[in-house]
Amino acid sequence: MIIVLKSDATQAQIDHIVERITKLGLKPLVSKGVERTIIGVIGPEDILRVTPLEVFPGVENVMPVLTPYKLAARDFKTEGTTIKLGGNLVIGARKVIVMAGPCAIENLDNLYEIAKAVKKAGATVLRGGAFKPRTSPYSFQGLGEEGLKYLSQVGKELGLATVTEVMDTRDIALVERYADILQIGARNMQNFNLLKEVGLTKKPILLKRGLSSTIKDLLMSAEYVLSGGNLNLMLCERGIRTFEDSTRNTLDISAVPVIKQLSHLPVIIDPSHAAGKWNLVSPLAKAGVAAGCDGLIIEVHSHPEEALSDGAQSLLPEKFSELMQELRILAKAVGREL
Ligand code: PEP
Ligand code: MN
Repeated sequence: MIIVLKSDATQAQIDHIVERITKLGLKPLVSKGVERTIIGVIGPEDILRVTPLEVFPGVENVMPVLTPYKLAARDFKTEGTTIKLGGNLVIGARKVIVMAGPCAIENLDNLYEIAKAVKKAGATVLRGGAFKPRTSPYSFQGLGEEGLKYLSQVGKELGLATVTEVMDTRDIALVERYADILQIGARNMQNFNLLKEVGLTKKPILLKRGLSSTIKDLLMSAEYVLSGGNLNLMLCERGIRTFEDSTRNTLDISAVPVIKQLSHLPVIIDPSHAAGKWNLVSPLAKAGVAAGCDGLIIEVHSHPEEALSDGAQSLLPEKFSELMQELRILAKAVGREL
């Protein structure tokens, strides 16, 4: 159920409604938009049917949300969600945000070298994994806290925001201490306990689509995060498993307009994990921007042949810089900037 408030609703009126909903044993989630405030109500809707919320002062309209995802639905919030990071960095606004860096943080010097290059090329968020979800238990698993320290140190020094994956509920507090955005990897998209826990944090969340998950599955997973109270959520299309084996995964480019129609959440494209090969990353990144994504997350490595993870799909800094220049022109053509 969604309660749309009048544009002149006062804070006292909002507090009053929130208090009444809570007393009914339901969970209110207040979303303050530019135009007006909306309150999402989670819980058994039949309780609300016998409570005439329409007559509460400040309420304009009360409507049911017919989709199984409620808070993620476009109905809940007609204007797109914007996520404010430090400085004047906003995800979900006109500017397409580029997150770039190595797949895994390997050592301080290498991270610094890559970070400097991606910053120079125009990236504003540094990516790098410290906890790596590897297919084989014998592959490099990441540096853990040591890696997080490097990420935070380099990010601060260069004025880059940071994003890194959290794989386990036991590591959330640790990762939160070091990173600006918490990434939930494709393999954990339906780790519901993890989703519930990051929903209780205040940090922006980047939720990646599962390898074999539908867009509806992704939106239901988003609902877990949102219903915990964390509305700073962005969704990431990173390629799905199909019968096509020329690429590591198949980038579902239609996910961008589909999610944009169904949801208000920002959409990020990861061309690197979709492609699996560095020479396909650039066209897929461009397709993402052309389709209307709000951001890109791209793997870059200064020595891809020596990378401890995903070297084959990592762009050299020069290639990344070229791509950024091309993307700037493209973004303009679709009414965005980069
Ligand atoms: C990654 O970003 O390095 C990663 C492991 O991504 P995904 O979860 O999409 O495979
Ligand atoms: Mn990777």
